[in-house]
Amino acid sequence: MSRIEAPRDEDTETTGSLRDRLLTGLPAEAVLTDPDVTASYANDMASFCDAGTPAVVVLPRTVEQVQHVMRVATELRVPVVPQGARTGLSGAANASDGCVVLSLVKMDRILEINPVDRIAVVEPGVVNAALSRAVGEHGLYYPPDPSSWETCTIGGNIGTASGGLCCVKYGVTAEYVLGLDVVLADGRLMSTGRRTAKGVAGYDLTRLFVGSEGSLGIVVRAVLALKPQPPAQLVLAAEFASARAACDAVCRIMEGGHVPSLLELMDRTTVKAVNDLAHMGLPETTEALLLAAFDTHDPAADLALVGALCEAAGATQVVPAEDAAESELLLQARRLSLTALEAVKGTTMIDDVCVPRSRLGDMLDGIERVAEKYALTIGVCAHAGDGNTHPTVCFDAADPDESRRARESFDEIMALGLELGGTITGEHGVGVLKKEWLAREIGPVGLEMQRAIKTAFDPLGLLNPGKLF
Ligand SMILES: Cc1cc2nc3c(=O)[nH]c(=O)nc-3n(C[C@H](O)[C@H](O)[C@H](O)COP(=O)(O)OP(=O)(O)OC[C@H]3O[C@@H](n4cnc5c(N)ncnc54)[C@H](O)[C@@H]3O)c2cc1C
Repeated sequence: MSRIEAPRDEDTETTGSLRDRLLTGLPAEAVLTDPDVTASYANDMASFCDAGTPAVVVLPRTVEQVQHVMRVATELRVPVVPQGARTGLSGAANASDGCVVLSLVKMDRILEINPVDRIAVVEPGVVNAALSRAVGEHGLYYPPDPSSWETCTIGGNIGTASGGLCCVKYGVTAEYVLGLDVVLADGRLMSTGRRTAKGVAGYDLTRLFVGSEGSLGIVVRAVLALKPQPPAQLVLAAEFASARAACDAVCRIMEGGHVPSLLELMDRTTVKAVNDLAHMGLPETTEALLLAAFDTHDPAADLALVGALCEAAGATQVVPAEDAAESELLLQARRLSLTALEAVKGTTMIDDVCVPRSRLGDMLDGIERVAEKYALTIGVCAHAGDGNTHPTVCFDAADPDESRRARESFDEIMALGLELGGTITGEHGVGVLKKEWLAREIGPVGLEMQRAIKTAFDPLGLLNPGKLF
């Protein structure tokens, strides 16, 4: 559970001197110390993970201000927790006691959109959907589209190496980050990468920062690759009598060489939760609903081929959307899945296990067994085309026994994912939630090398302590 405690006298004194030092390089409105306000920055969306009490929240607007914050933090040896929109699902943006929360949301300018170089240059606080819309006006497309895209920031997307619905065709955030400006722990500014189409000079530090969960430096500017805007996508919905049959359809589609722009799965629990929340009229008798889409020049023809494969895998009904508006409604339903599952019992633990697509059916069967064993509701939505499942354990956080079972089932699902040749996290990151599991996935030598990298960038251990490992 989150731990928010009233500040002690000595804490207040330390906060006072920290605040005074910060105010030498930041305007007063950018330095927040009111405990009620700072407490509201303690958590990301994994609200059941441990979080400390921030001493100060800063909201810089310039690179120089971020450098100032890091210099003060280094001088006073105060931990710094970078934050975007705090939509993260692993506690990676959770505060630690006495830290400076460094919120980048006010650095939200799109600095450049260049259709010839097909890049955008942005500050970290730009909201994902705002960037998508802005580049769309130039006939361009920024593909990574987490379901939280209306609120999450590019800095947070880089911090967690976010994925999304269209990643089955277009890849994840890592594929689109060409270069970064990063403020290091001691306040120095480092530029990595490039704005060119190609470039292999030295180690790929850009890629290292993607997914580093704020533990290596503060991203203050990003050069992002763009694609030409594809035609509007058309979606098909296929109903299945079992999750295994839906997974079989996924395998047939991928094996057949098709390249859908989206291939998503919602199980019966998820479908019902979305209907309960938003009254969308999705078919509740189905055990699994598969959504497939194409953004090609003849999406109806591509959908017809994929629809036939779904039928061959046992689909009980295959319904192509009539137009772009109906397609968008189906996508909205999928995007609502996690929010809807949260409403089932008030709290969720969202697993993020990604397995080879060929093992997706085994994964879903296994999750069902885990739900039965622990007598819990576990809804599954999945970026099925990527093998990336979100088994979502629904529980009442006020019930200690149910909370214990939730945590045990959550861990058992990760163990199952590793057993099937998968990873504990396909896109949400390790954060606080999965840090005991990182070592199991990457092994002792991998962990040692990761720690050495952390020490090289952050010798005093000030950046986002207690996350990852
Ligand atoms: C309803 C819902 C649906 C979601 N769907 C998806 C999905 O489909 N795919 C997916 O991948 N995720 C999804 N997420 C998770 C979340 O939205 C993503 O992880 C997102 O990238 C987080 O962005 P944020 O701006 O909220 O970052 P935060 O949560 O604030 O931070 C995330 C991490 O990035 C670090 N960070 C933030 N800004 C910076 C910076 N400028 N420099 C250095 N480090 C920084 C933080 O320290 C933290 O470690 C979903 C979340 C919700 C609530």
